Amino acid sequence: MRFFKNSEEKVQAATVDELQDMIRSARLPEHVRRIAQNETDLLAKISPASSEYTISFTYINFLLTIPWDKKTPDSLDLELAERILDEYHYGLHKTKARILEHLAVRILRLGERPRILVVDDEEVARRNLSHILQKEDYEVEVAVDGEDACRKLETTQFDVVFCDLKMPKVSGLDVLEQTRIKCPDTPVVIITGFASVDTAVQSLRKGAYHYIAKPFKLDEVRATAREALMKKAARRETKGSVLCFAGPPGTGKTSLGRSIAHALGRKFVRISLGGMKDEAELMGHRRTYAGARPGRIIEEIRRAESANPVIILDEIDKIGKDFKGDPAAALLEVLDSEQNAAFVDRYLDIPFDLSGVLFILTANVVDNILEPLLDRTELIEFTGYTEEEKFQIASRFLIPKQIRETGLSGYPTRIAPEAIYRIIQSYTREAGIRNLERQIATVCRKIAKGFVSTRERSGTVEVAAASLEKYLGPRRYSFEVAEENGRVGVTTGLVWTEVGGDIIFIETAKMKGGKELILTGSLGEVMRESAQTALSYVRSNASSIGIAEDFFEHYDLHVHVPAGAIPKDGPSSGAAIALALISLLTGRTTRRDVAMTGELTLTGRILPVGGVKEKILAARRSGIRTVILPGRNSVDLDDIPLQILEDITIQWVDRIDEMVDAVLMP
Ligand code: ADP
Repeated sequence: MRFFKNSEEKVQAATVDELQDMIRSARLPEHVRRIAQNETDLLAKISPASSEYTISFTYINFLLTIPWDKKTPDSLDLELAERILDEYHYGLHKTKARILEHLAVRILRLGERPRILVVDDEEVARRNLSHILQKEDYEVEVAVDGEDACRKLETTQFDVVFCDLKMPKVSGLDVLEQTRIKCPDTPVVIITGFASVDTAVQSLRKGAYHYIAKPFKLDEVRATAREALMKKAARRETKGSVLCFAGPPGTGKTSLGRSIAHALGRKFVRISLGGMKDEAELMGHRRTYAGARPGRIIEEIRRAESANPVIILDEIDKIGKDFKGDPAAALLEVLDSEQNAAFVDRYLDIPFDLSGVLFILTANVVDNILEPLLDRTELIEFTGYTEEEKFQIASRFLIPKQIRETGLSGYPTRIAPEAIYRIIQSYTREAGIRNLERQIATVCRKIAKGFVSTRERSGTVEVAAASLEKYLGPRRYSFEVAEENGRVGVTTGLVWTEVGGDIIFIETAKMKGGKELILTGSLGEVMRESAQTALSYVRSNASSIGIAEDFFEHYDLHVHVPAGAIPKDGPSSGAAIALALISLLTGRTTRRDVAMTGELTLTGRILPVGGVKEKILAARRSGIRTVILPGRNSVDLDDIPLQILEDITIQWVDRIDEMVDAVLMP
């Protein structure tokens, strides 16, 4: 008797004979067993020293370790799911509610027994058919004729209809038509005598799913019912069965995915698509290539030893451009429930049913997700955390976790609330909490080092705000924008980026020259156009603004936006640029504690913009007191926590003239 650490090792040590035994005893689906058997027969004929032997051997090994239909049973308990989501994540109420709704729908669907309607005016046929289907554990209802069937279709949703073709008064074709109207997704299987096969074919043209001739065979009925149900399920699930989490980094997308797996009692797998360059990495290489390998999807499923894990496909928005092959097509093969029930990994080369997998996609920017993919997902947006939320998450989750992980559990350690706020304000600048977690980890590590080097446990280590520099060095960020009032030609704009919101300063200058607009600061195409529009607006309204009509004749204007690391594009800085120019040309100083966002049109209207919550959060982080927003964005206010609105005054505007006195000093 030999002992092996795992099944893989066991397979590698096996000879052909042993392989035969293992194939016999493994629980493989029949078609897979046959393929494995054929491969092993071939193996017996080639030399173990040849490379084909190794390739074939590895392949059979692979077949034997795939969890073909090994699924973990789902825990269908919504209350438990809610408790688990709450236990590991603070806040995120709306997000959690959406996830629970999604799970509830899945649970209902999974728990449902498929309902089948059997229509036949012949009692014996009706009874036989019902008997076969009931034995398959379907819920079966019968209708004694066409009229009865139509009545039942009025009140009940069926998953499949089996219907006799020849019936008096209301025929099978009529029932078919009625079903197509009442429940267009429900497949209809027509039952017919041999004599009426032509009419049966005609019924296919009218939209019947399939026909079965009497006397029907047991296997045929069973198989048809199963396939029809799969088709129905596929239609129903095409949209919304894949979740997509979009939002800035560190807002809990991945960890919430992990909690969903935990709540359902499923295995969890994470595959990062960012930087994936080749379709084969995902879908596998054909076995004819030297060094061929299976793709990540099937490989991870094999490793998880479960055919129904939760799979997170991370950074779906970072795939594209230099990807070899067509990323959208490849991902649809994986995600689309019409296709993924027979997903073929190029290496495995046998269809594998992915329909049990719960896929969750994550992305930072929704706009970068390929359109056909987005269509098939249920989008859940994650926004950045407020300072208070960050504080709560840090004290309830991050600090206890870091204390555990750095081995400080037995050593009394306390980080004062003011110190936590100081870390949030002066050492991090982000929408999520990745950096915050990192900084807390640094503090904990340094405390641990202190304990180890002094070898004493005397008293509690208390980290106060004032002593933070000892742990984290000088503060990195300070936001005293409010104190910097009184400059001419500079306004504060708000931008939205992949990592959340941020503030930017728009600086303008004029110098002798002639009619040139200089734009610097790595501005994107759209932002450059906004600057041009802003200038044209100012020029065409010069007299009402109170500046010389010909100011541009003998001057060049320069618009610069510092902070090279922030990507700057989009139309939302139009208003801020125009106001910087107006300040420059009128000589009126600007209030720096007023930030603004809004697209400017040539006629001076202010159009709505995206990312309002992120922008307001960023403004508050930076000590801004007033935020000017396009009037039409007032619908976004629901998403903004009340706390924030207590500290920040929001001013809604529809035209740029309304902004002038709010931003410029008299
Ligand atoms: P993302 O996938 O959005 O980039 P992660 O899921 O990796 O973010 O989250 C980063 C860290 O922050 C993880 O340790 C996670 O547990 C923690 N985290 C994020 N949001 C919350 C929250 N609401 N409550 C508790 N911990 C959180």
